Amino acid sequence: MSDQRWRRKRIGDRALAPETLMMGYGYDPFLSERSLKPPVFLTSTFVFRTAEDGKAFFELAYGLRARRPNEEPGLIYSRINNPDLEMLEDRLAIWDEAEANLVFASGMAAISTTLWAYARPGSTIVHSGPVYGGTDFLLRKILPQFGVTPIEFFAEGGNPAMEQAVAAARRAGPVAALYLETPANPTNGLVDIARARELAETLKGPDGRRPVVVVDNTFLGPLYQTPIALGADLVVTSLTKYVGGHSDLIAGGCSGTLAALEPIRGFRTILGTMCDPHTGWLLMRSLETLKLRMTASADGALKVASFLKGHPRVASVWYLGFLPDDHPDRPLFQRQCKSAGSTFAFEVVGGEAEAFAALNKLEVFKLAVSLGGTESLASHPASMTHSDIAAEEQVRLGITPALIRLSVGIENPDDLIADLDQALRG
Ligand SMILES: *Cc1c(COP(=O)(O)O)cnc(C)c1O
Repeated sequence: MSDQRWRRKRIGDRALAPETLMMGYGYDPFLSERSLKPPVFLTSTFVFRTAEDGKAFFELAYGLRARRPNEEPGLIYSRINNPDLEMLEDRLAIWDEAEANLVFASGMAAISTTLWAYARPGSTIVHSGPVYGGTDFLLRKILPQFGVTPIEFFAEGGNPAMEQAVAAARRAGPVAALYLETPANPTNGLVDIARARELAETLKGPDGRRPVVVVDNTFLGPLYQTPIALGADLVVTSLTKYVGGHSDLIAGGCSGTLAALEPIRGFRTILGTMCDPHTGWLLMRSLETLKLRMTASADGALKVASFLKGHPRVASVWYLGFLPDDHPDRPLFQRQCKSAGSTFAFEVVGGEAEAFAALNKLEVFKLAVSLGGTESLASHPASMTHSDIAAEEQVRLGITPALIRLSVGIENPDDLIADLDQALRG
C-alpha cells in the first residue's frame, strides 16, 4: 500500500512520537489521486493485474510459501485484507509498541478470536477477575462447551493469588493462556504483568511451547499502559472505548509479534471477525486526536476525583492516583501505569437509593454504560454492568449498591464538578 517513505519513523536521529505518526503513517497519497487523507476503500474484492499476481497473493495469504524479502501481502478480498485496515493496524501497532496488530469487529471479537486461536480441548485458561462481562461469559459459559476450563484468581490478591491459580492449572493440564485484565473494572485491582510472563515461562512444555500472556488493555491503553513492554505476548483492546473515543463505533484490536498473531489472523479470516473499512477509517481519524483526548480526560478525572474525595456525601473514591503509599498495588501502579486514566468509581454515603438519586439528577454526565468517549458517562455497576455477579461475590469485590462508575470525558472539568455537586446535594 505504500513505498518506504511513508513508513519512516525517524527524522535523522530522532524517533518520531506516535501522535506525530498518526497523521499519515503507512499511507501513500500518490497511490490515491494525491488525496491528503486515505480514502475509505469500500470494496469487497480487489482486481489482480495478472493471473500470476493472483496466484502469488493467494500463496502468501494461505501460508503456502514464506514471504519474499520486502514483499507486501497483495490485496485479495476484504475479509483477508483491506487498505484501511492495514493502515490502521500499522498505526495501532505503533501505540502498542508491537510488531503488528489485527483489527476486529468489536472488542469481544478480538478477545474471542484470540482465545479461541490458542485454546484447545483439555486446556485451561488462567485469568484474573473480575473481567469484563462479555469476557466472563466467554470464559465461564462458552469456552467450557469446547472442553476449555477457566481458572480464576482475583486481581486484588496480589501475586500469591496468581501463583496459586497457575499451580492449580499446572496440575489440571496444558495451560493455553494467562489472561489478565488490569486495571480491573470497577475495582481498579492491578495484576503484575511481568510476573505473569515469568510464570508462563515456567509452564513451558516438552515442545518448548508455553502459554501466551494476553492483557486486556482497554482501561489505560494504549497511551497509559504498554503491556508488551512489560512482558505480555498479546494485547487486546476494545477500540470502542478510548481509541474510537466518540462513542460512535464498535471495534477491537489485538497486538503482538507477527508469529503470535499468525494463528489469530487465520481464525479471523475464517470466522470473519474483522473490522469493516468504514469503521477502520473512522478509527484512523480518531487516532489523530487520541493523545489530546486521553490527556484531557485524565487531567479532568484527577480534578473530578479530587473534588469527590473531599465531598461530605461521598464515602470512598477508587481512583488509582489516590492509592496510599503503603497499599500493595502502589509499586505496581508506579511500574506499570503511566497515569490513573479517567475511568473510576466512587461510593456515595448510603445505598442504592442515594446512588440512584444522584444518577437521576446528573445533567452533564449521561447515564450510560461504556467509557472512553469525549462525553462523560455515569453508571451503576451493581445493577448494570456487574448485575449478573452473585450478591455475595459483589460484596466481596466491593461492588456495593452505593457504587457509581464515572468515565470522565473532555468537557470543562469545572462543569463536571458543578454537575456532581448539584446531583449529590440531592
Ligand atoms: C468494552 C470492553 C470490552 C468489549 O469490547 P466491545 O468493543 O464492546 O466488544 C472488553 N474489555 C473491556 C475491559 C471493555 O471495557
